[in-house]
Amino acid sequence: MTVSCSRCGSLANSVMSFNYGDRAVWLDDLVDPQQPYGYSLCADHSDRMTPPQGWTLTDRRTVARLFAPVHVA
Ligand SMILES: [Zn+2]
Repeated sequence: MTVSCSRCGSLANSVMSFNYGDRAVWLDDLVDPQQPYGYSLCADHSDRMTPPQGWTLTDRRTVARLFAPVHVA
């Protein structure tokens, strides 16, 4: 199963979630396509993500920028 970027439709590899109370935004690796909330983003859009004024952005992604294709033997 693949997840598309909510902005451009490209293959997503990270997910953005936020908490209004804390004014916090997080970027995480997209590990579970069934994650109940958050916006899926491709690498391009997650890299260009800027939080709203007064919010803090925490990038919790592992910095594995390598594209890892899945091969089925
Ligand atoms: Zn995108």
